[in-house]
Amino acid sequence: MPNKTRQPEHRNLLRQIREIMAAAGAAQNRLDALVNAIATNMHADVCSLYLRRPDASMELWATHGLDPGAVHVTLLSDGEGLVGEIVRTAQPLNISEAPNHPAFSFHPETREDPFHGFLGVPVLRGGRLLGVLTVQSRAARDYSDDDVEALQNVSMVLAEIVSSGDLLSANELANVALRPMRAEALSGRRISDGLAVGTAFVHDPGRLKTPLIAEDPEVEMQRLETAIWDLRRSVDALYLGKGNRLGGPSRDVIEAYRMFANDQGWLDRLHEAAGSGLSAEASVERVRGEHRARLLSAKDPYLRERLHDLEDLANRLLRHLGAVEGLEALPEDTILIARNIGPAELLEFDRSKLKALVLEEGSPTSHAAIVARALRLPVVGHLTGLMDRISNGDTILVDGEQGVVSIRPDAATEEVFRERVTERRQRRAAYARLRDKPARTMDGQRITLSINAGLRVDLPQLDESGAEGVGLFRTEFQFLLSDHLPRQAEQTQLYHAVFEAAGDRPVVFRTLDLGGDKVLPYVAHEREPNPALGWRAMRMALDRPGLLRYQLRALIEASGGRALNIMFPLVTTLGEFRAARHLLDVEMERMAHFGHEMPVKLRVGSMIETPAIVWQLEDLLQEAEFVSVGANDLLQYFFAADRENARVAERYDMFNPGCLRMLGHIAAVCKAADRPASVCGEVAGQCAEAALLIALGFTELSVAPAAVGPIKRMILSLDQKSLGTELAQWIGESPMGDSQTHVREKLLAYAKKTNLSL
Ligand code: PEP
Ligand code: MG
Repeated sequence: MPNKTRQPEHRNLLRQIREIMAAAGAAQNRLDALVNAIATNMHADVCSLYLRRPDASMELWATHGLDPGAVHVTLLSDGEGLVGEIVRTAQPLNISEAPNHPAFSFHPETREDPFHGFLGVPVLRGGRLLGVLTVQSRAARDYSDDDVEALQNVSMVLAEIVSSGDLLSANELANVALRPMRAEALSGRRISDGLAVGTAFVHDPGRLKTPLIAEDPEVEMQRLETAIWDLRRSVDALYLGKGNRLGGPSRDVIEAYRMFANDQGWLDRLHEAAGSGLSAEASVERVRGEHRARLLSAKDPYLRERLHDLEDLANRLLRHLGAVEGLEALPEDTILIARNIGPAELLEFDRSKLKALVLEEGSPTSHAAIVARALRLPVVGHLTGLMDRISNGDTILVDGEQGVVSIRPDAATEEVFRERVTERRQRRAAYARLRDKPARTMDGQRITLSINAGLRVDLPQLDESGAEGVGLFRTEFQFLLSDHLPRQAEQTQLYHAVFEAAGDRPVVFRTLDLGGDKVLPYVAHEREPNPALGWRAMRMALDRPGLLRYQLRALIEASGGRALNIMFPLVTTLGEFRAARHLLDVEMERMAHFGHEMPVKLRVGSMIETPAIVWQLEDLLQEAEFVSVGANDLLQYFFAADRENARVAERYDMFNPGCLRMLGHIAAVCKAADRPASVCGEVAGQCAEAALLIALGFTELSVAPAAVGPIKRMILSLDQKSLGTELAQWIGESPMGDSQTHVREKLLAYAKKTNLSL
């Protein structure tokens, strides 16, 4: 264990800093006193504090040793000089001859010309860089490891104080890239539809409520020791299979925990931080912050996964210290603010208080997004700098329809928004009244409306929405949400629950559609240059049939005595369909052989998700008993436009006449072969697109539960034959401008003329 009594001067420095920061007076005076204390303590000629401005430039906020006139005047542009180097790397920089460093830049107003020894450390909070703290000396000088350590400790304390909002006034904060108090609207990505008004609750496991500086360093060291000991014991208990296994971490993750919990480097860093005068909690936080900053920039998913494990371990250590944020303080209408969040973590929050989720990162296909949609929580994501702009208690408006978040809105904005919330509620109430009404067009065409599902939480929505069944059950969600490979028994259990919830209503189970962006964290995989065109879905299932075979057994077992509908994803060739069907036949025989109760009826279908299979449809339909158009994928491959890439979203448009012709071809071929064909991609849940699908001849749609109401309302106002005739004409026209815009405009005009409810 490191020497507990070393660095007495630096410990004294932390005590001084605490006194300075606790003193009354203007922030500037306190910051001036802070840099003076650091310079004196470290025998440095200069100590300077730079804070990052909202435009990413670095402003000199306080200095001892440089020209005081340069304070709030010197602005380093993003990446400039040695300070810029620290911003870029988020690492300390310790150099004895600063002017020789390639990144050195000279600012005459600071008169820093004669300085040589340089040590700078990032001011980090939660892995985010708020500023840079430097010391310099006239002579060439190598600052010691203890100096680096001490400056990092001060910078951590400073980061907490600055970001707590206690130090700087609202005006001052406006010039720092931290937490401005003014109203702001941020535009991000729509992840889950809906509107919500509420109070921000920042979910930031790094937020410490305990003092940062040790009252008694010996006591803190002892507390840290005890917590590490408890942590190791709890991780060992997990490893030996004791404690809560249901929903607990997987074997791989536990092994990673064990490795980190015994990692000498990690433990040394913790001891060093506590030995230098930080409280036990602050020591854990400091070491975590360093890892986070280093790994946040890592693109490699494996590294990011390890970062997650390490963070989790740090959280566990904080829990042993009794320092983690309590969820009991959740406000009534909570808008949960997080950098990112895991699905299981999201489910830990009290649903009755949670109104929406706002994420700094996040993506529409993330697992948390899937859960949020199932919970009908509006979600907006991709909001850079979000965590720095929001404080607990801020009023937030979440517009999941447009992907906009308003922070601390003024009264007028809030009122307009609340009117929209009321209108939306009324619209939803009107949909609920349609619940038991059959979906029939005005000219008498019956349309089957089912829901897409994949989670247990989706199941009650079958009854609530009045849907006629589950048109697409995405079985891979169970695999994605679990932190281990679900065993056959777990799969059977889920499928059984789906059958129970569905009662007499049909359910179409799609076999595992993994790969591409749906990567299982607990299964090793190779990175592919082009995942959407890579080893996914059927390709994976047939190359490594083990997973599929276990799944088929689970499906057969769960369906004993009922009708089983199975559908294969991403079929490209007839051979693939046959191979999958063969596996199913083998498993059926096997289960029958072992005396299991068998399904009373088996229907086997195929997704239509590749243009390749569209042009083999007649042949496929000789063998597939039904098909479902996975328009999300089909359109991505048809337009060669990645469905995950927001930059090409505009190029992915079902109104394109070529695309409409292809969809019309599918409907016509299925009708001629007398095979049921549904559409289950997102377009089926959008009113205008769904109207065109029905006009093209589709009579089954499977949509997100929240879309059942609006789509039914549209169907009830639609004349299928009349729109079909019009559409055929629009597709054939050669407009001057863009052909898809032409079809869209024609449809809007038609809707207006005929009172079609889009
Ligand atoms: C589709 O591709 O349209 C589809 C329904 O499948 P998923 O969105 O799960 O890929
Ligand atoms: Mg698909």
